Amino acid sequence: MQTKMLINGELVTGTGAALDVLNPATGELIGKVNEASPEQVEAAVKGSEEAFEIFSASPPSERAALLLQIADVIEANSHELAELESLDVGKPWPSAHDDEMPLTIDVFRFFAGAARTMMGSAAGEYVAGHTSMIRRDPVGPVAAIAPWNYPLMMASWKLAAPIAAGCSVVLKPSELTPLSTLRLAELLQDVLPKGVLNVLHGGGLNVGDALINSPQMEAISVTGSPATGMAAMRAASQQIRQVHLELGGKAPVIVFEDADLEAVAETIRYGSYFNAGQDCAQPCRVMVADSVYDQLVALIADQVGQIQIGAPRAEGTEMGPLVSVAQRDRVAGFVDRARASAEIVSGGEMGDGAGFYYRPTVIANVDNDAEVASKEIFGPVVTVSRFSDADQALKIANAGPYGLASSVWTLDVGRAMQMTSKLRYGFTWVNTHGVATPEMPWAAMKGSGTGSDMSVYALDAYTAVRHVMVAH
Ligand code: NAD
Repeated sequence: MQTKMLINGELVTGTGAALDVLNPATGELIGKVNEASPEQVEAAVKGSEEAFEIFSASPPSERAALLLQIADVIEANSHELAELESLDVGKPWPSAHDDEMPLTIDVFRFFAGAARTMMGSAAGEYVAGHTSMIRRDPVGPVAAIAPWNYPLMMASWKLAAPIAAGCSVVLKPSELTPLSTLRLAELLQDVLPKGVLNVLHGGGLNVGDALINSPQMEAISVTGSPATGMAAMRAASQQIRQVHLELGGKAPVIVFEDADLEAVAETIRYGSYFNAGQDCAQPCRVMVADSVYDQLVALIADQVGQIQIGAPRAEGTEMGPLVSVAQRDRVAGFVDRARASAEIVSGGEMGDGAGFYYRPTVIANVDNDAEVASKEIFGPVVTVSRFSDADQALKIANAGPYGLASSVWTLDVGRAMQMTSKLRYGFTWVNTHGVATPEMPWAAMKGSGTGSDMSVYALDAYTAVRHVMVAH
């Protein structure tokens, strides 16, 4: 198992504390990985600063070639990387390999193309005797912080766009799930120029905090919880830095009476319990028109009752464990607090064995302002509540702090368009939920963050628009 970090082109063992890495499916220790010491964080920061000087001047075609090479390396090693991901996060093998790897790889391929599309929007004589041009230049070395739910895919989102833009990166994966990212660092050691990619291991409050507060890091990019997003904004406020945040969500699934209810229930089965519900876009807050409420609850309960929960590599497993004891207990706490005022239609209890399992849970008759309906649970729990008309549905959906994913289910195109224009969410699906593609932004609004991952808009976080004027 590769446990070394990548600092300025060298693979090095952390000289900080040894942190446990656990197998969520059994609770057993996979191994220990040493975190970075403060000196090692400094060395990574310095390496990225030096690399930026050269890399930022590389032509887009060279960066595109590197990104294509990264995609090829991941593809060639996708079996091993998916094995690490499945072991470390508890993902069912088909999810880790068949579902997540293709998008992870494609993100690098997309940004290889995007690297060559960046351009300023104007050049000409706007003042007599002067020629102006607009340049779009890499912003500087980037401090990138990733979460544990999709470690490798989130690493691809945190790396591909800044590399396309010409930035060097110091990336810190979650201390809970470092294995696939550390192996990726080893695989890319000889692909990327020295210092363009640095990978550190360690906790958020020491290694992460030191990284985002380093004066040399000129942009901060975080995918994680709102608390970490706030820490990034505080750090950025001390030095005035560009910040890109992709944070939590609480996706409403707004189901009108004319919707294909079977399709909704199937989407809930496959989408809400994918990755054991640990997904920022998880369709978790089902809001249903009064007249079809009972029918949809029954359909969802039937679908969710069929989910096979089990070991990640067992045949037929649809849902594995949660990532940690803490995460499972947090989820159980939400469900337990809801019991008195709502109805647990399925699940609501721990799974068998020593792993961190929690049964797929559906909670019905939930008040729209109940804790389970409004706070991010980040686990295999779906709530179902009612609404009476479109205005009320909009009011409820837009009231919360989050603004990431949402979906609307109706066969009436006009109503779908009206709803999508008024929902204050970074993305809204109509009659589906959770389909992602690198060409389209994974965009955040309100308390879910700033800016986008994927798409050409992701380049905004890593580039600065500049004006150059020549007098003649
Ligand atoms: P987390 O915020 O606890 O940890 C994320 C990362 O931040 C980790 O690497 C952690 O070590 C680091 N970190 C924690 N405190 C820090 C600090 N003070 N300074 C610097 N770094 C710090 O989040 P998590 O539990 O790993 O992930 C779950 C959260 O991530 C959920 O809220 C989920 O919705 C969100 N998420 C969002 C997206 C998105 O695209 N919007 C995608 C995946 C996950």
